[in-house]
Amino acid sequence: MIGVYLYGDEREHRSTDGAAPGGVAMSSKSALAQRLAIVAGFEDPNVSLEQYRTPPELAAHLVHTADLQGDIEDRTIVDLGCGTGMLALGAALRGPTQVVGLDIDPAPLATARDNERKVASATEVEWVRGDATQVPLGPDGPTTVIMNPPFGAQSGNEHADRAFLETASEIADVSYSIHNAGSDAFVESFAADNGGEVTHAFRAEFELPHQYDHHTEEQRTVDAEVFRIEWSG
Ligand code: SAH
Repeated sequence: MIGVYLYGDEREHRSTDGAAPGGVAMSSKSALAQRLAIVAGFEDPNVSLEQYRTPPELAAHLVHTADLQGDIEDRTIVDLGCGTGMLALGAALRGPTQVVGLDIDPAPLATARDNERKVASATEVEWVRGDATQVPLGPDGPTTVIMNPPFGAQSGNEHADRAFLETASEIADVSYSIHNAGSDAFVESFAADNGGEVTHAFRAEFELPHQYDHHTEEQRTVDAEVFRIEWSG
């Protein structure tokens, strides 16, 4: 279960395993989450790359919000650090012009291809192996980046999310990114310094299954924040 909180007046607090109050839009968000539940995660996660699968409810919330903002239709969607494809496939199910999923590790990309077959999305996804911090792509036309980058929590990987944001600022006119809680000051100042503006932010908390040896608890709660940034550069 995840709780989703929006900042400011629009605050909502909803457990996403129950039906949201009213509305076609909300039921289509839960339908998206249900579709994404079959997306398999990392078979053999690599701790130094901070690999974990975004929960389907959070992915559906992010993609649905982007769709309502007009950031999916008629656009190229790039998922930086796509892993096994959760966010890329969520976007592909909403039928954008094209979707690219990029990851540095070939193992999850193979799982992503299998996941694409299972999800049977409207738009095909191009899976690309590459380093998201080296600006490997130059998509034409309106481009939305969606990403759950490494938080930079592992030593040797500090500020990994900054490098991913840098790439977003160069290839996209809008991005949605998931960061660990408490990143708002960093994200807002990074955006301001790079021709961007944070237009929306919401918090999400979710449980990660026990997956790495250095996690002592059986489950770990992650407090995350999602930011929508418009880039003018
Ligand atoms: N987006 C997926 C996976 C998130 S985990 C999901 O939401 O489920 C972070 C991902 O970033 C991992 O798949 C990891 O392999 C990838 N990654 C880490 N460093 C990278 C880099 N420099 N370039 C591209 N991908 C990277």
